[in-house]
Amino acid sequence: MRVTALSGGIGGARFLRGLLTHLDTVPPAPGSQHRLDVIVNTADDMWLFGLRVCPDLDTVMYTLGGGIDEARGWGRRDESWHAKEELAAYGVEPTWFGLGDRDLATHIVRTQMLGAGYPLSAVTAALATRWPTRHSTQIRLLPMSDDRAETHVVIDDPASHSGRRAVHFQEYWVRLHAKVPARGIVVVGGDDAKPAPGVLEAIRDADVLLVPPSNPVVSVGTILGVAGIRDAVLSTRAPVVGVSPIVANRPVRGMADAVLAAIGVEATAGAVARHYGARTGGGVIDGWLVDSSDEASVVEVQSAGIACRAIPLMMTDVAATAGMAAQALTLAQDVRR
Ligand code: GDP
Ligand code: CA
Repeated sequence: MRVTALSGGIGGARFLRGLLTHLDTVPPAPGSQHRLDVIVNTADDMWLFGLRVCPDLDTVMYTLGGGIDEARGWGRRDESWHAKEELAAYGVEPTWFGLGDRDLATHIVRTQMLGAGYPLSAVTAALATRWPTRHSTQIRLLPMSDDRAETHVVIDDPASHSGRRAVHFQEYWVRLHAKVPARGIVVVGGDDAKPAPGVLEAIRDADVLLVPPSNPVVSVGTILGVAGIRDAVLSTRAPVVGVSPIVANRPVRGMADAVLAAIGVEATAGAVARHYGARTGGGVIDGWLVDSSDEASVVEVQSAGIACRAIPLMMTDVAATAGMAAQALTLAQDVRR
């Protein structure tokens, strides 16, 4: 089976770890191996102290490779923060970004390779060789684009001439904790970003395309915004199944409701499904999983032309998540055209 997924950081990475665990129990055709291509959001990336930081790529790489800090959900386990403390002692800004000592090595290698002229996709493949998984599926991490495209959030700023200003997504998310209203989302460079090598093929040639419970706006939305990706999703022969990151009218983790509001989408499992839209109507999904507590929204989703089931969607442990992933594959089977 060849599975392709569109992923952000934590929600995507945890779901995909469950998927890999499930696929370990599904025998591949004789002489073959299951494949998973993960197309990862890079619009959260930023330059920090001269280093290129790619939070979502690193979260997926560390989670699938066993290096993640489980409790935090991001960054390396057994992390220390001496470099961050030393930088703060020098009074160097920004001080709000969680830059761990172990994590720093990843950013240094990445930055060196980019400086030597390698594209991000090649750098990502090189970094990933250090993080082999213990799963039987063959995995590739693909940045959505080798080009720089960075999400900025428009916020109120009475001191500025226009009354508004745009801040980098990381500043909005990490420093401001998404506590001030997001008036708009702008992906700087988004219009010119091209899909990284292998991305369109991975969508076109997949047996199943999955949209994990990642942020619909600043993770999946930015991937779909790269030229050609939305069209590839629309036209692939693979069934496309998504998993709701919204449970009981709230994001399970994080502040996705703040950025959904910025694009005028309610923070409900049904509204997010309608935002993605049925592929039969020009949207991007065929099937949608909502949490059991959102069973009442199944009818609403189905009336939008999207097959929908309610099952437990809390990724409390790997076994529960593997069960969710299995259900996503079953739904994909059932909606196959
Ligand atoms: P980020 O880039 O690190 O923010 O991660 P993603 O965009 O991949 O995923 C963030 C989303 O994951 C949030 O909107 C959460 O609601 C969602 N999420 C986190 N844990 C769970 C869970 O256990 N179940 C579900 N359904 N969604 C989850
Ligand atoms: Ca992210």
